[in-house]
This record gives sequence, C-alpha cells and structure tokens, in this order.
Amino acid sequence: MRARDLSSLLAEGVQGRRVLVRSDLNVPMHDGVVADDARIRASVPTLLRLTTAGARVIVVSHLGRPGGERRPALSLAPVAQALGEALGRKVAFCSDCIGPEAEAAVAGLAEGDLLLLENLRFHAGETNNDAHFARALADLADDYVNDAFGTSHRAHASTTGVVPWLERAAAGDLLLGELEHLETVLAPEHPFVCLLGGAKVSDKLGALEALTTRADVLCVGGAMAYTFLRAQGRPTGASLVEPSRVEDAHRILAAAVRAGGQLLLPVDHVVAERPAPGPYRTVREIPDGWMGVDIGPQTARAYGEACARARTIFWNGPMGIFEIDAFGAGTRAVAEAVADSPARSVVGGGDSLAAVRATGVGDRITHLSTGGGATLEYLQGLELPGLAALGRRA
Ligand code: ADP
Ligand code: MG
Repeated sequence: MRARDLSSLLAEGVQGRRVLVRSDLNVPMHDGVVADDARIRASVPTLLRLTTAGARVIVVSHLGRPGGERRPALSLAPVAQALGEALGRKVAFCSDCIGPEAEAAVAGLAEGDLLLLENLRFHAGETNNDAHFARALADLADDYVNDAFGTSHRAHASTTGVVPWLERAAAGDLLLGELEHLETVLAPEHPFVCLLGGAKVSDKLGALEALTTRADVLCVGGAMAYTFLRAQGRPTGASLVEPSRVEDAHRILAAAVRAGGQLLLPVDHVVAERPAPGPYRTVREIPDGWMGVDIGPQTARAYGEACARARTIFWNGPMGIFEIDAFGAGTRAVAEAVADSPARSVVGGGDSLAAVRATGVGDRITHLSTGGGATLEYLQGLELPGLAALGRRA
C-alpha cells in the first residue's frame, strides 16, 4: 500500500465512507473526569476534516492499561463527552469496540457523524495484535487513519493489525506534524544538545546510545545519572543504581569520547534519606545512606548554559523526583533553560511534559511531543511498526 496523508485521502474523497481513526485519547483521568484534555484537543483537527468531508467517523483509542479486561474506571465514556465539547458537536459512544453492539452503532452513522468506541485494551487482542480481533475491528470500516503517534512504536491490532483489511490507510495531521518536528531533531542544526533523565538507564539504553554519538552535548540527569557515576567509580550512596547496566554506562561513556561529543554528568546533587518529603541537602559527593533525588544547582547551571548555546535541543526525562516539590528545582531550572534558549526545542515523555506544564513554560518550547517511547525510538532511527504499516519510515 502506498503512503498516503490525510490530505490525499480527502482529495480522493471520503464522503459516506466509514473511516476508522486511531487517535490517542489516553488522557489522565481523576475520579471519572478528564483531568487534562490536551490530547483530546490535539485530536480534533483530523476528526473535523473527516466529518466536514462527509465521512462516517469511527474513533478508537486505548486508555491506561486495563490488561485485556473490562475495567469501568478506564472507560472512554467520559472522553466521548469531553471530545464532544472540544469538537462542538455530539459524539456517540458505544460500550464495546467490536461485536454486534459496535456494528449496530456504526450502521446508525449518517455522513459527517462521529462515534467513539470503548477502550481497545478491554480486549487482550489489541495488544496481542490478535488477527481475529484486528479483523473484527477492521470490518467496521472502509478506510483507516492513524493519528496516534504515541503508540506507533507498538505493533498492536489498531496500529498495524487492521491495516491490511482496510481499503486505504493514511497518516493523520497530528501524526504528520509530529514527524515534521522530529525531523528537525533527526537532522539537527548544531550545536545539538540532548538532555536525558528519568528513572532508568534500562528504559532508555537505545536512546542514550544513539544520542551519545549524535549530540554535541548530552546532559544526563535523573536516577540514570547514578549508574553512570558508579561506572566512573564515584560514590552513589543509596541512589538508584542499576548494577546490571554499569557495563553499558561504561560503553556509552567511551562512545561519547570517541565521537568527540561531551557527556555531562551531575557535579552536585540534592540528596535525601528516602524518596519522600523529608530532610535533604545539597552535596558534591553522595554520602553513604543518602540517595540522589535531584541534580544540584551547579549542575543545573551547567546544563542551562549548554542549552543557551544550542541551536537544537531534545529533552526527555525529569532531572529528579520532580513530583516532590523540594526535589524539583533541577527539573524546573532545565525547563526554564530550554524555554529561554533560542534553539528549536522538542520535549517528549509523559512526565517531562507534566514538568514543563507545571513550570508554565510550555508555550516557549517549539514542540511538545505526544510520544514518549515512540519519540525515543524514532530518534534512534528505528522502524516504528505503526508508521511502517502506513508505508513510512524514520
Ligand atoms: P518520561 O515520562 O518523561 O519519559 P520517565 O518516566 O522516564 O520520564 O521518568 C520519570 C520518573 O523518573 C519520575 O517519576 C521521577 O520521579 C523519576 N526520577 C527522576 N529522578 C529520579 C531519582 N533521582 N530517583 C528516583 N526517581 C527519579
Ligand atoms: Mg514516564
């Protein structure tokens, strides 16, 4: 199948066609209410273009990790309501994504109508990419649009399995916009500065490896920094170190030297007795029994200076346990520095975006990527199954 964009699909015509749209409506919920509708609003343009062109639009998404079981707390019903408000029109909802009920709901759609189906992951077949499930989903529609970049690194039924069973497949506007912004990071203007943080080296090993050789400066923070410090034989106290990744950290440090880039590690730390509110202090060497919970102010300054000189910045992963206010200063300082820099800046990752929003600098960052894992894989140059299914590659 040749690669299509939403615009070419619309040019070919969608009037009266049943179009299955894989959106990313995986929003944070709080007591059955949508807590942040950013992803819902981001999904609107593609849906509006389709309804305006007279398509019968069938929207599917996952919400959370119900593990193949019907979990009422993870129902998309409240999202249908919020999506209706964002679109300014009624969105029908069906409490199953396949089967007779879904078939009846689709049969009732008039041209320009919109239907949201229940959480795909209430069926194990979604994440298993089960052929029967994929076929049942695909049979609801004629054409397919993928607008969910954040799940395109997963070969799930709704991202890959359905594609062969639908007549035409296209990339949605949100997904295309994401690729355009990530392109500027894949072919960056130099200096190219990367900031990587978060919990584990093991989560981001591939990204660390790829970005070490591509970035002019790679600033490492968060818990993963301590595995690197251990590799250098520095004291790490009770910090989260992944002993099985110390060798990898060694190799990455050596690769950075060979590539002629700079890999910066924290030179000072905020340490606490436990990863919870309580006593803490700033140190240059982590004492026994204390754990690193944030980069120190001197480190934040150094990372900030690297950002100030950059032409391109990519940031994923908080610099510390930013959910606890006292351990969030390093992450906030980096967010400010990324926003203040004249560089093109891309920030990706659920927690990283939460940190950016909490700091109130989101509108001064060039692009807030909807992908976490997908963004990291794309920047490594890996083939993303959901994109490959549309005939696109990194
Ligand atoms: P993202 O969602 O942006 O990709 P991650 O999920 O990889 O980011 O990492 C975020 C998590 O890392 C946060 O929950 C944060 O508390 C944790 N974290 C950051 N620094 C530390 C640290 N020093 N010790 C323990 N956890 C940390
Ligand atoms: Mg996260």
